[in-house]
Amino acid sequence: HSRPVYNFSAGPCMLPRSVLQQASDDLLSWDISAMEMSHRSREFTDISLQAESDLRKLLSIDDRFEVFFFPGGATLQFSAIPYNLAGGVRRKAYYLTTGLWSSQAIKEAGKICDAVEVWDQGTKPQYTTIPDLSKWNIRDVKDAAYFHYCDNETVHGVEFPQGEFPFKEILGDANAHAPYLVCDASSNILTREIDWDRHSVVYGGTQKNVGPAGACITIIRRDLIDRKDLQRADTPVLCDWRQFMNSPAKYHNTPATWSVWVSALNLRHMVKEGGGLHYQKLAEERSRILYDFIDSSNGFYTNPVTPIKYRSRMNVPFFLPTPALDDLFLSKAAQRGLLELRGHKVTGGCRASMYNAMPLEGVHALVEVMKEVKDEWG
Ligand code: PMP
Repeated sequence: HSRPVYNFSAGPCMLPRSVLQQASDDLLSWDISAMEMSHRSREFTDISLQAESDLRKLLSIDDRFEVFFFPGGATLQFSAIPYNLAGGVRRKAYYLTTGLWSSQAIKEAGKICDAVEVWDQGTKPQYTTIPDLSKWNIRDVKDAAYFHYCDNETVHGVEFPQGEFPFKEILGDANAHAPYLVCDASSNILTREIDWDRHSVVYGGTQKNVGPAGACITIIRRDLIDRKDLQRADTPVLCDWRQFMNSPAKYHNTPATWSVWVSALNLRHMVKEGGGLHYQKLAEERSRILYDFIDSSNGFYTNPVTPIKYRSRMNVPFFLPTPALDDLFLSKAAQRGLLELRGHKVTGGCRASMYNAMPLEGVHALVEVMKEVKDEWG
């Protein structure tokens, strides 16, 4: 390319050029490339083990947990979680719905267990904030099998502030018993620390901060796998955590080998770049630059999420004064190589998704175009 191109897609998203270059070189230089090799081969097993060990390093995952690269994206875990945890003595699960993805999760769970909505917003939810704890329906939460929340809502741009989850109110003093805390971290995994004393299951598709689409990183407390008192007997095999645990290299069937391999390259790259803290700082700085500009635009650009507390560092939805101006902005941005900025169809407007591979230069370039459009039409 003669000019840099920045992909602001919500996922699949941009990956570091050096990782793409290495993947491309390896594809043609190996006797059997990682795209063609057997998932039961020694080589692929080593690739998986390396990916797991780098992930453990980046997220400080300890031995209480098992790491999987499951098929079916994060969506399959929407089903797997109730099958594995809410099929025994406890059939009730609590879901905090803060955006599109957690509402998809509760919809699936409702087919499998008794899924209770923690925050009822009526028929037209806005998803622009997270309510005060006093508004949460958690009266009988102690009887639930688990509590599910989404740490970062990719479509609505709502993210839990670090360390603000009301652990004590939900879990009590310990995490050795139900309700187990389950977190969908699809769109902010590897951008901050995870409290492993509190969480029992954390999952996220690879296609945002990690690699290409196809696999779902799922980190599960070991003692919750293979539990007849928790699991449904009719669990479909691709949802069955125990089945994966007891298979060679923890793969029951053919995994998304391409996705695991490129994820492994990128995880290694992330370790070299400075690990979790580096990406946390980057996420904070990128989003601060963009929100500061939005907030200083005298209302020409607006972001609907409660400032500053619940605004996502990863996905920033924003609106110009009219849909026609949104379109004008989007075409001008595309001419400059700033791509995939159209908002999700349920929200309209624009959205800038900025995952780990997005450099600060990308955000500066975005703000520059936003400024020009405002100066011309504001
Ligand atoms: N949860 C969140 C927060 C997401 O952003 C997405 C995908 N954008 C999903 C779940 C669903 O993931 P997948 O497409 O990998 O099934």
